[in-house]
Amino acid sequence: MTPPKIWLSSPHMGEREEAYVAEAFATNWIAPLGPHVNGFEEDLAQRVGVRAAAALSSGTAAIHLALILLEVGPGDVVLCQSMTFSASANPIKYQGATPVFIDSEPDTWNMDPPALEEAIVACQAKGRKPKAILPVHLYGMPAKMAEICRIAEKYEIPVVEDAAEALGSSTGGRGCGSFGQLGVLSFNGNKIITTSGGGALVSNDEAMIQQARFLATQARDAAPHYQHSQVGYNYRLSNVLAGIGRGQMEVLDERIAQRRANFERYRTFFQKWNTRGYDIQLQEEQPGQFSNRWLSCILVDPAKNNGLTRETIRLALEADNIEARPLWKPMHLQPVFQDCAFYGGRTAAHLFDIGLCLPSGSNLTEADFGRIFASLAKCF
Ligand SMILES: *Cc1c(COP(=O)(O)O)cnc(C)c1O
Repeated sequence: MTPPKIWLSSPHMGEREEAYVAEAFATNWIAPLGPHVNGFEEDLAQRVGVRAAAALSSGTAAIHLALILLEVGPGDVVLCQSMTFSASANPIKYQGATPVFIDSEPDTWNMDPPALEEAIVACQAKGRKPKAILPVHLYGMPAKMAEICRIAEKYEIPVVEDAAEALGSSTGGRGCGSFGQLGVLSFNGNKIITTSGGGALVSNDEAMIQQARFLATQARDAAPHYQHSQVGYNYRLSNVLAGIGRGQMEVLDERIAQRRANFERYRTFFQKWNTRGYDIQLQEEQPGQFSNRWLSCILVDPAKNNGLTRETIRLALEADNIEARPLWKPMHLQPVFQDCAFYGGRTAAHLFDIGLCLPSGSNLTEADFGRIFASLAKCF
C-alpha cells in the first residue's frame, strides 16, 4: 500500500481561523470589504513595518497594481530577478512592458547587484531608462536589499519588492516588503500563511495604497451612480478570506519557528553525509539576515557528490510518495520569455540545474520526517 503523500508545503490552519470566518457569516460581512479586511491590513502593515497595506485577491494582482501605480506602460523596461516564479514577471507583460532579466548571486540566490547596475547602464545607453526594479526574496531568504536600494537610488528607479515568499523574513532588522516603494505579499495555498488565495500590496506611501484599493474595486469615482474615469480591476480580498488571514497572522511566528526547525533537521542530516565524502549545500543566511525558511532547499553538485544529482534524490522521494521540486527555473530560460534580454552569468542557471526544494510544511510530523530521511538515506 502506498503511504499518504507528503507535500512540499501544505496549508496549516490554527485554532482561530474558523471563528473569524464564522464572525463574517454571523455579521453578514461576506463582501470584498468589511472589518476583517481592515483588521488584516493593519496586522500586515504592522508585521512588515510599513504604514499601510491593501489586501488583494492574489500576489500576482499586487504586482500588477504596483506596476500600474508606477505608470509602467507599453514599451517600458522593468528589471526583474530571473530566478523566480513566473508570477513575478507576468504582470510586466500584462502592461505591455518589456521584462529584462537579472541573474542571481550565489550567497542568497537572489538578484545580483552588479548585474543589476550593468543592466541599468546598458538600458540607459539605449535611451531606455528602466521604470522599476523587481527583486525577489526566494524561499524566504532576503535579497541584498542594501545594495539593491543603493543602486536604485543612484539611478532614481523605484523598487517593487516581491516578498510573496518572505512574510516574517528580515534583513538588517527591517522586514522584507518594507524596502521598496511598494512591497508584495502572497497568501496562496502553499505559502507560509494562507487565505486559500490572496495577496497584499504594502507601502509607507499611504496615498499609493489608497489608490491601490481604489483601482482594485473597479475604480469607482465618488458619485451616487457608477462613475468611472479610469480603467479599474476586481482585485480586492473578500472579508471571509481576510478572516482566515487574521487567524493565520496569530500563528505566523509559530509557523516560522516550525519551518526554521525543519531547516535545522535537514542541516543535521546532510552534515552527517558531508563528513563522509559528500558536499550538500543549503541556502545559508548571511550576517544580519533572518529567513522565514518557507522552503528548505539544497544544492547537489554531482561533481562534488560522487555523481549524485538532485534528480536522483527527487525521484527517490517521488517513489516513496514524497513531493520535492527543482528550484524555480529562471525566467530567461522559459520559452514564454525567450526573446527577453538577460544580464549576468550562469549563477541562476546553475542553481536550477543542481537545486532541490524539500518538503517544508509547518505541519510535518515526526513520522513524516522518519519517512523523508529514510528515503533520502537510500541515495547516499
Ligand atoms: C506565490 C508567488 C507569487 C504570486 O502570488 P499569488 O498569490 O500566487 O498570485 C509571486 N511571486 C513569487 C515569488 C511567488 O512565490
